[in-house]
Amino acid sequence: MKKILLLGTGGTIASEMSPDGLTPELGPQQLLRYVPAVSQLCEVDCLSLFSIDSTNITPAHWQEITRVLRDRYDDYDGFVISHGTDTMAYTAAALSYMVQGAQKPIILTGAQKPINYDSTDSKLNLLDAFTCACSNIIHGVCIVFSGRVILGTRARKTCSKSFAAFSSINYPELANLHDGRLMCYIEPEHRPVPRFYDKLDTQVGLVKMIPGTDFELLDFLLQRKDALVVECFGVGGLPSYDDDRLFETVRRYTEEGKFLVMTTQVQNEGSDLSVYEVGHRLKSNRRVLEAYDMTTEAALAKIMWILGQTKDAEEVARRFYTPVAHDILYRG
Ligand code: ASP
Repeated sequence: MKKILLLGTGGTIASEMSPDGLTPELGPQQLLRYVPAVSQLCEVDCLSLFSIDSTNITPAHWQEITRVLRDRYDDYDGFVISHGTDTMAYTAAALSYMVQGAQKPIILTGAQKPINYDSTDSKLNLLDAFTCACSNIIHGVCIVFSGRVILGTRARKTCSKSFAAFSSINYPELANLHDGRLMCYIEPEHRPVPRFYDKLDTQVGLVKMIPGTDFELLDFLLQRKDALVVECFGVGGLPSYDDDRLFETVRRYTEEGKFLVMTTQVQNEGSDLSVYEVGHRLKSNRRVLEAYDMTTEAALAKIMWILGQTKDAEEVARRFYTPVAHDILYRG
C-alpha cells in the first residue's frame, strides 16, 4: 500500500462556525475521519503545519511547506496538502518553483464548505486528492478540486462560492475524476531528481492599471520593491498620457536595477507587448519582462523565486522565459 503524508494548513475545509464566522479548528487527523474510504487507498500519516485562514498565508508559510516536503520526500509516495481556497493558487504556483521536477504527486486541495456541513464538497475533494496522490501518473504540484486536476502553475480561483472554484488558465486540465476514477489527458513534466529551493525575494509587488493610474503609485512601489508585476489592460502596455511620466518612472527604476513584469488583467490568452506602441516601446528594456500566457500568480511566484537566486539581468530573463512545470508556452 502507498504511503501518503497529509499536511494540514487550515482553510474552510477544516473550519467550524464561531460567533465571528468560520474559523479553522480541525486538524488533518480529524479531517480524515470524515473520509474513511481513504484508508482503502493508502496508509496516511498526518502533520498539522498550521491552522489558518489562507488569507493569512505568507511566503514564510510556503517556505515551511517546502522544508517539510524536502525533509520527508523520501519517506512517502505522495503528499496531500489541505489548504484554504482563497490563496491556494498562489501557494500552488510558489510550490511549483520551490519544488521542481518532483516525480511524486504533491496535491493541494480544500473546499468551499466545511467538512462537517451536510452539504459539502470537502469529502469528495479530499478523496479525489488521495486518489491522485496514489496514482502512478500524476506527479508534481497540482490542485485537485471539483473533479479537476490542474497544474500548480496554471490554477486560479475563478468562483468565490461555487464548488467548481478553480480553473486552469491558458492550459488544459491534466485530468478529471469521476466516481473515484482518474482520467488523465496530459502527463506532467517528469524529471528523475527533484530540486528544492528555499530562497525567495519577497520584495515583489503587484499593481493593477486603472484608467488614470498615477505615476506616483509606480514610483512609491518601485522605490520599495525589487520587482513589480504590472497587470496592464489587454495585450499590454503602459499609459503614456500627456507627460510620459509612467515610462519615465520605469526607466529610472530599472536603471537602478529593479525589474518589471508586465502581464494582463484579462484572464485568458495572455499578453503581447509587441502589438501596440504603448507596449512595444518597453520591449528594448531588458529589465522589463513579459508574462505572456502565465497566470499572475505564477508570474509573481516565479519572479520571487528567480530574484531569490540571482539579480543578474540576463540570468533573470533567461530563467523567467525558461518553462517550469509548463508555466509558459508562448514567448513572442
Ligand atoms: N477564507 C478561506 C481560506 O482561504 C476560504 C476557503 O478555504 O475556501 O482559508
